Amino acid sequence: MHVSLRVTSRYSRKSLLLTPTPIKVRDSFTLTDGASLAVPPQRTAWKLCCVSRTIGAMLLSLPDETLLAVLAHLAPRELFNCRVVCRRLRDLSLHRSLWQAAVVKDKGLLRAALNLAPCLGKISPRLPLETIASFMPSTTCAVANLGITVHNESDAAQATIILLKLSALSGVRSLNLENRCPPGQSLSTLLNATHNVIGLRKLSIQNYSQESLSVAWCDLKTRPSLTKLLYSSNLSEPFLHLLLETHAATLQEMCLFCRNDQVGTLLAQIPNLRSLTCFPSNDLSHLAVLPDLQSIHVMSLSEAYPPGALEFLRGASNLRSVKITNNFSSEPALALAESPSASQIESLTITTILSETLALVVPVLCKFSSLTSLSMNSIEFDCVNFLRAMCWTSLPCLTTLKIPFPREICLHSWLHGPAVQGTLIRNPRLHIRDRTASTTAEDCSCQWCQWGCHELLRESDKPKAYASHSRGPECPADCYRVVLPTGPPSVAN
Ligand SMILES: [Zn+2]
Ligand SMILES: [Zn+2]
Ligand SMILES: [Zn+2]
Repeated sequence: MHVSLRVTSRYSRKSLLLTPTPIKVRDSFTLTDGASLAVPPQRTAWKLCCVSRTIGAMLLSLPDETLLAVLAHLAPRELFNCRVVCRRLRDLSLHRSLWQAAVVKDKGLLRAALNLAPCLGKISPRLPLETIASFMPSTTCAVANLGITVHNESDAAQATIILLKLSALSGVRSLNLENRCPPGQSLSTLLNATHNVIGLRKLSIQNYSQESLSVAWCDLKTRPSLTKLLYSSNLSEPFLHLLLETHAATLQEMCLFCRNDQVGTLLAQIPNLRSLTCFPSNDLSHLAVLPDLQSIHVMSLSEAYPPGALEFLRGASNLRSVKITNNFSSEPALALAESPSASQIESLTITTILSETLALVVPVLCKFSSLTSLSMNSIEFDCVNFLRAMCWTSLPCLTTLKIPFPREICLHSWLHGPAVQGTLIRNPRLHIRDRTASTTAEDCSCQWCQWGCHELLRESDKPKAYASHSRGPECPADCYRVVLPTGPPSVAN
């Protein structure tokens, strides 16, 4: 007999009524072959126990595969509670699939999980390193995600114990290491252990100490495995250079928040690099040769882009998604408009402080003829002039425009204004999104709010993609038509 089970509840991860105590009850349980059991909240505890036993028996009649799908809705503590119900649940509740994404946040649960579970999704970084390290000698549980914060040499020693053991179990796929510890032998050992984690895919390192992370103790024979690397430091980092050299064959995605590091030459040796977020530096010019580099975010909050960074933007030929954050200059965007990539870029985000800077970019936006998404942002952004100045016919693929709406005017009234209406009518596929948090006041006296159209704009979770069309299959979920066939009488005339 094939039975499928659908569980409906307000409480997505509450107990399944299989636990002896305490009993928590779902709103209803429905077997899709017809049987249904609703549990009104006012029932007495005695009746709930009867219901509990009935549902427990129904669940236990299910095949393993279906029962595992139900158990997947339980939190780790509830899975352990299931183990005391019967022998079958004792075994099923330790099934690998139930623990691969499980997150453990307290000491007692961690001890049980490391002793019994075959694997764990994540150990909460709030748990003390000393506690986690104390469970390491006996565990065979593979942990996929690990977050470690090191304040001193003692922390570094505990973290090394954890990392060596979990690496030996070959389960660690993602590691986040935050260092506040000055250089010392334990920290060096920890860095070596970090460098040697077997099969690590994602590594995030934030160095907040006053000294660079050293490679003095690091084994140079580590096999490449990292696909994603995030590194943040205000110093020049030998450890970053080592990671780039070790994992050059596998790295695909990088976020480098390092001001003083000249890593462009090393980055140019990473053949599969697809996505890069970094500060602009002169040696970015080396990256123009990378064949797979399609997504880049270059951020500069204070300085101008150096010539090498501009040269990269001007010469890159394979970019598809570009974000430029630059406070005072239109130079980066103008350089990008000259690049061989310009006509292929599909997503472009430009953020500056001055609206005058953005105004200088508008005339060259026509070069980005494949854009599907454009986002422009600055303080005191001149929306009306921007929408009027845009050459819409040169951007035939554009479906999303994200700009900061003026905040001094009612959102509803702004959407009905000639600038937005004219733009949407000229571009039937376009959605305009708001980068600010514009609102429609409850008691707004504008003619549109008084007329009463577009009631949804008064909701707190109002739709945010405004269009001239009704929502279609390719539209975002919050697509909302704001162009009407007729307006209020005073406006229509
Ligand atoms: Zn209004
Ligand atoms: Zn309206
Ligand atoms: Zn739409």
